[in-house]
Amino acid sequence: MLYMRRLSFREPLPWTTKPLYQWFREAIRGISVEVGTGNSYCLPQHTIIHLVFKPDYKGSAPTLERVNPDGLIHEARHADGPLHTCELTKDRTVAEMGAWGVQYSFLTLMATATDEPAAERASFATNAYWLRGPNSFCEECRR
Ligand SMILES: [Zn+2]
Repeated sequence: MLYMRRLSFREPLPWTTKPLYQWFREAIRGISVEVGTGNSYCLPQHTIIHLVFKPDYKGSAPTLERVNPDGLIHEARHADGPLHTCELTKDRTVAEMGAWGVQYSFLTLMATATDEPAAERASFATNAYWLRGPNSFCEECRR
C-alpha cells in the first residue's frame, strides 16, 4: 500500500481519472488476510479484498513483501468494475478495462511511465508480456 502511494506516472491511468492510490482506497472497503492455499479474490458488493498468502516450498512464513501491487489492483478492479467477461476467469480484451485489462495497463505503465529502477521496470514489462495472453484474455495476443 505504501508502495502504491508513492508511485507516480508520466501518463494517465486508462481506467480512472484519479491518482492510483486514491482510486484504490475508494474502490475497496478493506483487505482481509489469510494463510492458505486458495486464491485471492474480491467480488463486487463485498468490496473487501480477500488475500491468501501461500507458504512457500521451504515452509517459511509468508510475508507482506510477497503481495504484488498488480494483484491488489486486479482485485480492486473487481470491486469497482466488472467481473470477468469471458470463460469465468478471463476478459475479452484489454480495452474493456476489466480486472485483467487494468492489471495489464498498470504493469505496462510501471514499465514505461515511471522512474522505477531499470531492473524493476524490465520485470514489470515481462509480467505484462505474459499477462497479455490466452490465460487472461480470450481475444488478445502477446505483443
Ligand atoms: Zn479476477
